[in-house]
Amino acid sequence: MKIDILTIFPDFFRGPLDYGIIRRAREAAIAAVQIHDLRAFAHDRHRTVDDRPFGGGEGMVLKPEPIFECIEGLKVTPREQRLAGRSGESVVLLSAQGTRFNQAEADKLAGLERLVLICGRYEGVDERVSEHLADRELSIGDYVLSGGELGAAVIVDAVTRLLPGALGNEASTGQESFSTRSPLQSSNGPSSTCSSRGLLDYPHYTRPADFRGLSVPEVLVSGNHEEIRHWRRRTALAKTLRNRPDLLAEVQLSGEDKEFLASTMGKNAFDEGTKS
Ligand code: SAM
Repeated sequence: MKIDILTIFPDFFRGPLDYGIIRRAREAAIAAVQIHDLRAFAHDRHRTVDDRPFGGGEGMVLKPEPIFECIEGLKVTPREQRLAGRSGESVVLLSAQGTRFNQAEADKLAGLERLVLICGRYEGVDERVSEHLADRELSIGDYVLSGGELGAAVIVDAVTRLLPGALGNEASTGQESFSTRSPLQSSNGPSSTCSSRGLLDYPHYTRPADFRGLSVPEVLVSGNHEEIRHWRRRTALAKTLRNRPDLLAEVQLSGEDKEFLASTMGKNAFDEGTKS
């Protein structure tokens, strides 16, 4: 997959894309990331990329010309074809006003051949970029950042790890929190049958089995794969109920899951009742 990032701070990306899975994916040419300095597309002596807002008001706004020129130089498919979904390419503007980026979105972007990310700064980006150049705006959360670079790094990370071959163990992404992917079947252990499928991930433990008197749940050292699978499912359900109950509405629940949740909710209600 080809990823282009447009920014006025190219050095920002020294670091976030240079470690672990992302670095390895880049080295293996699974993801080819190119950073483009928008100041290189400014034509005045001071390489100006921003200007005051029309209508007055606070701050500065990123000018449209450098962004349009940079994208034109990238020779991406024309916008109409991209929007018709025929190109396998997408141009995204990072924006607090965008639709919310999530795992399902990461999955969709990972299916593209090319992704272009435009990072805003200051008070934002001239609206003509959103209206006539980008396909859409994406937000990484309901808060305002100083620039789109952190958002772009988040998207590159979440998308790259979903690319075929990026993780050594393909099954891993199928059982992570929020995943909508099917896990691959694996022969060593029960984890592959324990897809989160929209639930938060189950708790993980490693050695030592006893750490300062805190021992790992016995079932995990029992060697009983069926029991471990059940335990993982139940703890994923309980954690989702506790931390993100909103997710449960979207999850396919078995009769056993529903019984477990009902008993957990009953217990919580009982605990609440006994606290007061
Ligand atoms: N005036 C804008 C507003 O109120 O929505 C905020 C502009 S922000 C200070 C500057 C840039 O940071 C934006 O153009 C965008 O590229 C980026 N940014 C800020 N918050 C973001 C978020 N939650 N997700 C993605 N990008 C964000």
